[in-house]
Amino acid sequence: MNRILILLLTLTVCYSCSEPPVPEAGVPLTLAEERHSRISDLRYDLRFVIPADTAAPVMGEETLHFHMEKKADLVLDFKASTESIKEVRANGDDCRFVYKNEHIVIPAAELKEGSNTVEIRFVAGNAALNRNADYMYALFVPDRARTAFPCLDQPDMKAVFTVALSIPENWKAMTNGPLKSIEKSDSLIWWKFAPSEKISTYLFSFTAGNYFSETRMVDGREMEFFHRETDSAKLAASIDEIFSIHAASLKFLEEYTGIPYPFRKFAFTAIPAFQFGGMEHPGAVWYNAGSLFLEKSATKTQLIRRANLIAHETAHMWFGDLVTMKWFNDVWMKEVFANFMADKIVAEILSDDQPDVKFITQHYPLAYAIDRTTGANPIRQELANLDQAGTMYGGIIYHKAPVVMQQLERIMGEKPFQNGVRKYLRNYAFANASWPDLIAILDEETDQDLKSWNDKWVNKPGRPSFDFPITDLKANTYGLFTADTTAAVPSDPVARTLYWLNLYENMLEGRYYTPMEYAQKLLDGLEREKEELIVTMQLRQLSSVYWRFLTERQRQDFAPTVEARLWKLLERSNPSNVRKTLLKSFNEMALSVGAMEKLYAIWKMQMPPAGISLSEGDYTDIASALALRSHPAADSILDVQSQRITNGDRKERFHFLRPSLSADQQVRDEFFESLKRRENRRKEAWVGDALAHLHHPLRRGASEKYLLPSLEMLEEIQTTGDIFFPVNWLEQSLGMYSSASANKIVNDFLTAHPNYNGLLKNKILQAADNLFRAQKLLAGN
Ligand SMILES: [Zn+2]
Repeated sequence: MNRILILLLTLTVCYSCSEPPVPEAGVPLTLAEERHSRISDLRYDLRFVIPADTAAPVMGEETLHFHMEKKADLVLDFKASTESIKEVRANGDDCRFVYKNEHIVIPAAELKEGSNTVEIRFVAGNAALNRNADYMYALFVPDRARTAFPCLDQPDMKAVFTVALSIPENWKAMTNGPLKSIEKSDSLIWWKFAPSEKISTYLFSFTAGNYFSETRMVDGREMEFFHRETDSAKLAASIDEIFSIHAASLKFLEEYTGIPYPFRKFAFTAIPAFQFGGMEHPGAVWYNAGSLFLEKSATKTQLIRRANLIAHETAHMWFGDLVTMKWFNDVWMKEVFANFMADKIVAEILSDDQPDVKFITQHYPLAYAIDRTTGANPIRQELANLDQAGTMYGGIIYHKAPVVMQQLERIMGEKPFQNGVRKYLRNYAFANASWPDLIAILDEETDQDLKSWNDKWVNKPGRPSFDFPITDLKANTYGLFTADTTAAVPSDPVARTLYWLNLYENMLEGRYYTPMEYAQKLLDGLEREKEELIVTMQLRQLSSVYWRFLTERQRQDFAPTVEARLWKLLERSNPSNVRKTLLKSFNEMALSVGAMEKLYAIWKMQMPPAGISLSEGDYTDIASALALRSHPAADSILDVQSQRITNGDRKERFHFLRPSLSADQQVRDEFFESLKRRENRRKEAWVGDALAHLHHPLRRGASEKYLLPSLEMLEEIQTTGDIFFPVNWLEQSLGMYSSASANKIVNDFLTAHPNYNGLLKNKILQAADNLFRAQKLLAGN
């Protein structure tokens, strides 16, 4: 209390003040509900001065307009420090406020019923601004807007954002609203934007930087694209596709929903090292540049992944942006619809003759990877405070939910389902809805019992087990089925996909095949398989078994067979994409000196086997694999590879990853140590890649000692990192271990922390599932 009184006296004009109550830190659900009940007509006018020097602060000013139903204290979210708040005024006058628990509280006495204005000058926190030497981008999902400016940071307080950005002279800027003017005042250049539509704080964003920009009219709609790609071959192979997939997605969605694209502007930016695949800010979609720009030689999997990503983010314009969940426990709704629509869109634009094979290979393995574990979570979870919202994300909402949604569509029928979805979008446009709101609408369209379906599939975790084989391919095939090991491999592609999927899951349960037997069976299966997506799935399974579930001895003995058979297959006349996929697997699993020399020759001469075309990224992968295998020339290989990379952003990434590849244990130890400091974890995608090197199976003996500190850092990673980082951190750290000692480290950690955050504990149990299974499977080998 004293400290606050002193602050009040020094910072503001203080009246005879009694301290107003301050909610707990974060954004508690109770606060969110209370604010929603009496505050409306929210508008933010925001001005940020963004210097190029990342050490200099970003200064901000905002004017907040809102309507207050009943006079009460105003609680704003601002996760910063007292020093960050320079001035607070309410309705034109200096005002009293308290700053505590990440909230600015303005007492009721300073406000009035009806319309109010609050003006704040502040230093914007850098936590969500992703500042680099020549570009920056805001990423506020799920509750990070409050680290950059004072706001009501909850999805159901939609607002209009009007933005002005002062940026360095050679930079460009983009935000949700269209550009209005570029003005010079004093020494500053201001990019001023027209207001956005009504959107949630997590969907508000802006970027500024040294970008190339490309504007096109596609189907009568202007689209703007910012990027930093310098490779002309990549640009030539990608730009047209990127625009046309967006256009096709928009067209499909307008037809399916019956609602024209709801926002006045369409633009997107490709960001190097972006921490997700994409983020759906309306009018300003961010993409990971690496997922967007592909070479001519891209594999089918890569092309599908890009089309899916673009279709997914575009679908969000309706599902998530136009109609938004009330609270982040229903974040899965926007994700499931985005994935569900993306599957329909991609089937159409890539004129895929096997959409079911794509659907199964894309979703089932990743859904099972979580749902088979003891940490499996239901699709719909409870969330008491938004500062835990990141833990809602994972394989269940991205991959089980689409399976479940497909079931729902099959139960209801396509047309009634579509009618319900249209009604839902119309009813809640530019507003918010919960899952029960949607179920109530769908219920009107069907005679089926949606309540019990919902209880079983949405509210409960886990994968069902059946004591019979998969029979009806079109019915619900989600679960663990028995297998007939005497039956031939099915000729129907869908049946074959399910066959391999189910056998692998059974192997993990210790049924029918030991890991070694199953690896042999996969090699035989690969000989006959022509469907690229099934080949890719088989190779993933093979790599998983090879590194996780074989003993060291078995792997050494088996390696020459794997190498020889993969090499033979990749020389055969498969489609060139399949050959490339096989070469990638060869690179992943090669162990013998002979195989190493093959890879070295390909890398050195930049001469892949006939019919395969490799990109700079592929050569980086080969160079990294050679380094991880302690090739005698590792250092000079990495030096040369670094010189070969011309794009500055990719060079920077390679430079960051380099110590994680070092043969020198001390260099790797120092690198791991450096990750304990937050500033070294800012490029989360790169950190994930570096962890994969550190914990590579060939290095795991020396890296096991990183496991305990990595677990001890998890809570901090969750608090400071973006939504996917805790899972990525865990998966890259724990995912490839199989030893009893690693198993003990995880179990001891869980025992030593009986009151550990339940949502995070589940993430540990999910990531360690293969490690737990390895204890039983290795014993049986
Ligand atoms: Zn999404």
